[in-house]
Order: sequence, then structure tokens, then C-alpha cells
Amino acid sequence: MLEPQVTDSVSVEPSTPLSARSTSPGARIVGRSAFEAELVHRCAALPVEPDASGIGFTVLLLRLRRSDRRVKLLATEGADGLLREVLQRVAGMLHDDDLVTACSRDEVAILLSKVCQEGVARLASDRIFRALARTTLGASLRPQIGAAIAPIAGRSVDQLLSAVDVACDVAATAHPRVAFASFEMADHDDDAHLPALQRALDTNALVLAFQPQYDLVRGTWSGIEALIRWPHAPGSAPLSPVRLIDLAERHGLMDGLTRLVLNTAMRHAADLERQGAQLDLAVNLSPSMMADGALPDRVAQALAKWQLPPGRLVLEVTENSIIRDGEATLGVMRRLDELGTRLSIDDFGTGHSSFARMRDMPLSELKVDRLFVASMTGRREDLQIVRSVIDLAHNFDLRAVAEGVEDAATFAMLLGMGCDAVQGYYCAKPMSAEDLLLWWPVRPRTGFDAR
Ligand code: C2E
Ligand code: MG
Ligand code: MG
Repeated sequence: MLEPQVTDSVSVEPSTPLSARSTSPGARIVGRSAFEAELVHRCAALPVEPDASGIGFTVLLLRLRRSDRRVKLLATEGADGLLREVLQRVAGMLHDDDLVTACSRDEVAILLSKVCQEGVARLASDRIFRALARTTLGASLRPQIGAAIAPIAGRSVDQLLSAVDVACDVAATAHPRVAFASFEMADHDDDAHLPALQRALDTNALVLAFQPQYDLVRGTWSGIEALIRWPHAPGSAPLSPVRLIDLAERHGLMDGLTRLVLNTAMRHAADLERQGAQLDLAVNLSPSMMADGALPDRVAQALAKWQLPPGRLVLEVTENSIIRDGEATLGVMRRLDELGTRLSIDDFGTGHSSFARMRDMPLSELKVDRLFVASMTGRREDLQIVRSVIDLAHNFDLRAVAEGVEDAATFAMLLGMGCDAVQGYYCAKPMSAEDLLLWWPVRPRTGFDAR
């Protein structure tokens, strides 16, 4: 990826400097160094606050994968000619503030300057595939695209490039052949935050946000999900929940963190109950916790301490954590079930769980990943996935919950599809414990469905 020696034999360097405007419409074709310089500049301009929506950009890595036989038959000149044609066709499909560069004879990197939403990046990828089909060797190309959205997938050039590289590998088996980098795909240098995280745990400096869940069947608010937050001093770098959990997981801090989350969440649930709100409480559990035989005792202690009926505690686990360490995890799940707590599979649809495993598990809920929910009104495939997960849940006698509901159309569609509950910015955003107490008395009640 972006290796100088390969591309130097291909004359695709721009004839104009990066800052100059090209007269032909479409993206500018630039050299690798100019491309990387622009990436450095764009990374430096990313907002410090990771959740500031609408600010960011996307890097695509397009791998051409010509069939070997054709490549051998083509003289170098022909191969370079094809690459130039590819660059021009791709650039012609994009915006004039986007950049395109050749990384090797088979790889092209693209900067989508104003794109920071997956749906929009998918549309751009579709346009690129269509452009490639029209090139001289269109029929023998099997292109695949990896995408990394900044700052979600990374905040530095190194992080984004390593993430997009992994995503491009994943794209080889995707349909269509596009894959998005998750944060985990990049090399992140978060270990520098370790001492601060240890201190934060020792001093109870981590806090929880709570996101309400709305029950579509009963037409009432039914629960809250506890989500970890690490408030930072002004000027210091924030760490998103996913990165914080990853750091804690890699350095053996999950036990302390989970205890803190369980107890803090139950304390706030008790506060809320004093206001007359008897809500279910969902808490996320990380993979290492699910294989830890001490977890059920910790949960039992916290339930007893805060007097929360076990049936109101929903423990969310991801698909991948239930397939890891199979027997140990199953043992923990069964003991949690005996306690009377409920188990939910979070982010369902993106992991690697199998029906054989699910059949043996004491589950009560599937949470459809927001990746599918967010685009179900625009993409038929995602709509079908959401519908299938809801049906699957019901066929197993499980509750189906959709997360990431951001608009009225998605809400209405899920209601029509028989989804049991929804969670998302459209209904209520995650809020601090204090705000939750203020929100509860004025929560939307009647007419919520018609908003
Ligand atoms: P999750 O459990 O799937 O939580 C839902 C995530 O989606 C939350 O992100 C929430 O803020 C976000 N979200 C909710 N509604 C919407 C929406 O309509 N649109 C969009 N774009 N996003 C929405 P958050 O708080 O950043 O947490 C990310 C993940 O970090 C969680 O995903 C969970 O896997 C993990 N996590 C958070 N807190 C904990 C914790 O205490 N323990 C563990 N083990 N993991 C946690
Ligand atoms: Mg969750
Ligand atoms: Mg989730």
C-alpha cells in the first residue's frame, strides 16, 4: 500500500501542483506524496471531539485484481496505459475536491473529501465500479474497494491507511465487493492512555451515559442501555468507548471496569426507580468477561446491593465474544441465566455466530446491528437483513431490538415489521444520569409513533 518503489515505474504523477485546479471536471489525479500530504493536512483538521457528526472524510483503496493471464500478456506499456485509463475514468466519476492517486499497477487510493457517511461512500464505490466496467479490460477486472471513514476508523494517516488495507482484503469476499474499516482494523497507539485509564478507574472518573429504549409492542419506554464515557480534561485527547474498551481488554482492566459499570448503572437505575421509572437496564459485557467464571458472582453481588430484580438486567454480549472460549462462555451464560438475568446478542449480523451455538444458549434478545438499520430505508439488501433478523429472533422466541434508528421512516418501517423495540437518536440520544432524571418526567409519551 502506498509503497513508493512500485509506482515510480508508472508515470501517473500530476502535471499540475496539488493546489492547482484541473480544468476537466472530476477529481484531481495527483502523485502519492501530494496525496499523503493532503491526508496529513486533513487528519490535522479533524475535530478533537470524536462524536462531532458531519465532519470527516473517506479514504478508499481500490484493488483491480486483473486475472494473471491477461497481466502476463500485457506489455508494461499496456498495463500502464490501463492504469492511466482507470485513473481518468475513476476521477471523472468523482467530485472536483476529491483526489485520486496510483499506489501500484493494481491499486488506486481515493480521497473523498466531503464524505463521512457509509451510505454516501457506498454510492461513490458503485459509481467507481460502473466506471471500471467501461475500461478497455473492464470484463477481466475483479475490482474490490476498502473504505475507511475518518475519524471513525482512525485519526492519523497511518491508522487510516492500515485500516483501509485490511478493509480491502475483507472486500474480496463481500457482495458487492466493498468493505468498511472498523476502528479495530487500524494500528492504534492508544497504549499511551493506559496510565490515565488506570487512574480513572482507581478514582471512579469514568461515567455512564444512558440511552432509552422504546417498546414498540407496548408503546412505552421499556429500558435504558448504559454506555461508558471517559470525560477528559480540556485539550487532552478523548478516547471513544470502543477504543477505551479495547485498551482495558488488552491490559487486563476489564474486571475493574465491568464492576464499576455494573454498580454505577444499577445505582442510577435505583435513582430512576425512585422517580417511578421501572426500566430494564442493559449493560454491555466484553469478550474476556464472558469467559470469566467470577462474573456471575459479581453480577449477583451488584444485584443484591442495589436491589434490582434480576429479570430487569439485560446483559449484552457480541456475537464474537460468544464463540470465543466456547465452553467457558457457555458456562458463564448458564449461571447468569440461573440468576434470572437476561442475555442479549448485540450488533447481531456483523459477527460469526452460528445457529448451532445459538441453539444451546439461554438467550432472550437479538439486537440488529445499526449498520443495517441505518441504511434499511435506502438499501433493499439491508432492509431484507433487518427483516430476516427480526424473523429469526421471533422464530427462536427472542425479542428483536433495532439500534441506530435515526429517522421517522425507519421507525415506522420497524413498527410495521413487528420489531419489538427500538433504540436510536430518533427516539432519544444517550444522556448523562442527571439528564436522564430530568428527561423522564417530560419524555415523549402519546403520539411518539407519529412524530
Ligand atoms: P453498542 O453496545 O452497540 O451501543 C450502541 C452504540 O450506538 C453507542 O455508541 C450509541 O451511542 C450509538 N448509537 C445509539 N443510537 C444511535 C443512532 O441512532 N445513530 C448512531 N450513529 N449511533 C447510535 P457508543 O456509546 O460510542 O458505544 C460504542 C460501543 O462501545 C457499544 O456499542 C459497546 O459495544 C461498547 N461499550 C460502551 N459502553 C460499554 C461498557 O460499559 N462495557 C463494554 N464492554 N462495552 C461498552
Ligand atoms: Mg450494546
Ligand atoms: Mg450494538
